[in-house]
Amino acid sequence: MKEKMFSDIRHNYETIISNISDAALASGRRPEDITLLAATKTVDPEFINYAISLGLKFIGENKVQELLSKYDSYDLANSQLHFIGHLQSNKVRQIVGKVSMIQSVDSLKLAQEISRQSIKQNVTTDILIEVNVGREENKSGVMPENLEKLLYEIAPLENISVQGLMAIPPICENEQEIRGYFQIMRNMFLDISSKKIDNIKMGTLSMGMSSDYREAILEGATLVRIGSSLFGARNYN
Ligand SMILES: *Cc1c(COP(=O)(O)O)cnc(C)c1O
Repeated sequence: MKEKMFSDIRHNYETIISNISDAALASGRRPEDITLLAATKTVDPEFINYAISLGLKFIGENKVQELLSKYDSYDLANSQLHFIGHLQSNKVRQIVGKVSMIQSVDSLKLAQEISRQSIKQNVTTDILIEVNVGREENKSGVMPENLEKLLYEIAPLENISVQGLMAIPPICENEQEIRGYFQIMRNMFLDISSKKIDNIKMGTLSMGMSSDYREAILEGATLVRIGSSLFGARNYN
């Protein structure tokens, strides 16, 4: 059973790396310009660390409790840990200093708390701004029209460094539709980048998951977040 998991993960990892390479080249970039982050929710650290032993460099959790309970087991000597889920301000203190990036910042209040806790712990925390690209109610992310204002508000905060944007587009019916959302993200990314806002870097565009990472790369993603295609279907029990 466990041996089967290991061999599946190895096979999946090789397939994903090869698909990422193909999509990078097709988009006029180099394979090493694209970062693979494994979304590790529900995955046992033993399997996460096996993927790290294959060459995986970035892992991401989306729940604070789960991250904390698995934290001592991750092989963080050979990988970096990101937070990729919805984050409440009152839980920031528990993960600052443990994660190298928080990908899911969508309010000034949350950014202020990350800044405050990072100052306390004498670290600088890299963040991405999550954009609600599909303008969906009840979904995280700043609305596209409020992105620029939020960036200007976050820019002066200390010990926090904006590195780019992240998005989780709506469930789409077809490839054209999802590519449309990725294009909106790339255009925002380029637009903000061209404004050269002080203290705001636009180096990372995090979009694309198991079902659509090739399309995301073709549309300009620099980081893809992949869970089930690497580790298999999630078991929430
Ligand atoms: C789970 C998760 C992913 C990966 O989802 P898959 O479809 O399993 O690849 C990506 N991003 C976030 C924020 C996630 O929570």
